[in-house]
Amino acid sequence: MGKTKHGGPMRLPKTPKPGLWVSPVPLGLGKVKPHHIYDTLKTVWRNRDNLPYAYRILTRGVCDGCALGVSGLRDRTLVGPHLCTTRLNLLRLNTAPAIQGDVLTADIDELRRMTSAELRELGRLPYPMIRERGERRFRRVTWDEAMDRIAAKFRAIDPKQAAFYLTARGLTNETYYMAAKTARFLGTNHIDNASRICHSPSKTALKRSLGIGASSCSYTDWIGTDVLVFWGSVVANNQPVSTKYIYAAKRQGTKVIVVNPYREPAMDGYWIPSIPESALFGTKLADDWYQVNIGGDIDFMNGVMKHWFEMEKREPGSALDLAFISKHVNGLEELRAHVEGLSWDGIERGSGLPRERIAAFAGLLARARSGVFVWSMGLTQHRFGTDNVTQVINLALLRGFLGRAKCGLMPIRGHSGVQGSSEMGADPFSLPGGDFDPATIERIEKLWGFELPKWQGDIVGVTLENALLPDGHGRRLRLFYTSGGNFLETMPNPDRIRQSLENIELRVHQDIILNTSMLADAREAVILLPAKTRYEQEGGGTSTSTERMVYFSPEIPGPRIGEAREEWRIFLDLARRVKPEEAARVMKAETAEAIRAEIALAAPNYDGIQDLAKQGDFFQWGGMWLCEGGVCPTPDGRGRLIPIASPGIRRSEDAFMATTRRGKQFNSMVYGEVDPSSGALREDVLMNPDDAAELGIADGEAVVVHNRFGRFYGRLRTAPVARGNLELFWPEGNVLFPSGVYEPHAGIPEYNTEVRVEKADVFYARKDRKYRTKEADEPEEAPAAPSAGTGAEPPCRTE
Ligand code: SF4
Repeated sequence: MGKTKHGGPMRLPKTPKPGLWVSPVPLGLGKVKPHHIYDTLKTVWRNRDNLPYAYRILTRGVCDGCALGVSGLRDRTLVGPHLCTTRLNLLRLNTAPAIQGDVLTADIDELRRMTSAELRELGRLPYPMIRERGERRFRRVTWDEAMDRIAAKFRAIDPKQAAFYLTARGLTNETYYMAAKTARFLGTNHIDNASRICHSPSKTALKRSLGIGASSCSYTDWIGTDVLVFWGSVVANNQPVSTKYIYAAKRQGTKVIVVNPYREPAMDGYWIPSIPESALFGTKLADDWYQVNIGGDIDFMNGVMKHWFEMEKREPGSALDLAFISKHVNGLEELRAHVEGLSWDGIERGSGLPRERIAAFAGLLARARSGVFVWSMGLTQHRFGTDNVTQVINLALLRGFLGRAKCGLMPIRGHSGVQGSSEMGADPFSLPGGDFDPATIERIEKLWGFELPKWQGDIVGVTLENALLPDGHGRRLRLFYTSGGNFLETMPNPDRIRQSLENIELRVHQDIILNTSMLADAREAVILLPAKTRYEQEGGGTSTSTERMVYFSPEIPGPRIGEAREEWRIFLDLARRVKPEEAARVMKAETAEAIRAEIALAAPNYDGIQDLAKQGDFFQWGGMWLCEGGVCPTPDGRGRLIPIASPGIRRSEDAFMATTRRGKQFNSMVYGEVDPSSGALREDVLMNPDDAAELGIADGEAVVVHNRFGRFYGRLRTAPVARGNLELFWPEGNVLFPSGVYEPHAGIPEYNTEVRVEKADVFYARKDRKYRTKEADEPEEAPAAPSAGTGAEPPCRTE
């Protein structure tokens, strides 16, 4: 924890700087770029039936989009308005009326013909619904009927056969906390959240190396740092207002570097609507690119360190911050021995970059007095995601970029709730204020007044696989309670996920809108529970941003939807129905204020949350910098360098490594078929022009991307992607990824794979005799049981 307090928002310079312009032609005429004005007008039109409420949400609420963090239209980084089209696109989720007419009770096949976008457009879920096995339609039930049915199921099964999951868009800390407490009260540790498929490796790696579980710095540290590096992170698309921070940084001379297989157009140049010169002429964001192979980051960073150690041999202190290392860091010699033992050949092959380019990057960092490293899914969504992040931490420790101004490590979060979810304990490896370890368990048991289950809970991927365990198995998933989440459109291998969903006896979907996963059958019944948005919650709610700002979002006056309830209230109700007598004794907090007061006791770093009561209230836990002064919350106060071996990806000569990217979307919610930054359609397969020429495939030709896990039917689009690599849109590309392959420390599923690409006509002509087809019983790679990375035992699938 740091002592220094955040200094508050900074001011942008008033004079323009033409050297940063993308083009002297105004408004990016002739260029592929987002159309912010058009998108804003579209938002006004879409919310025309509820404009005053929409305005109040934007001006008073805390954004429910990404976790950059903004209260109303103001943030803590820059003076001036903070608004983006992502927030505007999501606005309709909050202003839409209830689903009209008989749609909710239509034949299930009619609903199943709709896409998730069409289901979303239907409006809000107004009241509880149930669909029993064999029934063709949902039917309305009372809250009592729905909750009693769920409670009865809880009482009838072993708690190890029940699991909770919570999404990250819009949920508040109060909801996560109540869900975490309820799950343990009901005897299960199977509770997980959306960070499992995004940043769980970040937390695991940060804990392992530094003892922290969140960004070590604040956004204001970007502004004026010598080097700002984005690793596998397209912030211009996913956290759009961050482009304003990058602009501010560049105005102070910061060098911006992007490490990514695809030269993402949005990170090359962006038209920032709230900065007049940028809105007119655009801003060049990246100063340089390092187009690594998919999965080549570890090799790349080993190359950087190898170069540094060579520099040190020639001139001690020319690359490493030796004073910082000797005072604050362990493991230098082991790391040195490991890296020096690696060959440049292997590093170049693995990273896809020549030694000279790696040396250029190493030299830039060696000369920098300060640096901030930001990363996202490009590093985490790998079966070695924790090791990827560990390498970034290794670089920062070797350069002393930690715990001081303009330095730090930032896993930038894409969902408004996700930072708080694990910190509130909605995670199999966490409890409020700590890990799932004996000391924290004891502390929380005292506070909560009941005994916690001691066995290790499962990550959500394993939970879903457990639905396919044989009947009678002690860990077979029989009741799955999910707040938000659309697993069919977020997890690898959707066919397998559907089997899992259908094999669960009772599935409960607590949500504000319909999605495709809710329409899957269940063995006994599917129950839908209508939730309130964060803006409708009595007593307001809080959410924690990437930079650890805990913002208060007040209840906002406006229309309310049918029988929708506060999510925390639904969990509390469930606890009381399953074990009424004990709940009366230990589940007492029944207002948002009382929950916040309890959070402050349960999670000591959240002390202060109990005082958040009105619009604009906030605090930053941990201060400006975690590990301030280089002192880490580890047993000896020192950071840990960890040697990381190359993952050794060796694709076949005729194969590609494929990964996914995002377009006009928020998580799995797609808002446009065309990616505004690249012009790519969602069916497009992005490939390097030289690779396309070698394959004899022209732009726009139909292709099949295939491997033993699935097939993707799309169109080829040439783009500046590193050779031998492909990019597809997420989640469409998920059909190509294996299920059951998890990162061993944090449990994130693998979202990268080797594929082959062929013209569609060639594929069809050959497929019957040449290719294996995907069959239901085809064995896939054996699942790797993840260990917690937090000192807990690995989750078990077969207990
Ligand atoms: S950048 Fe993120 S926090 Fe800011 S308005 Fe957009 S979605 Fe909301």
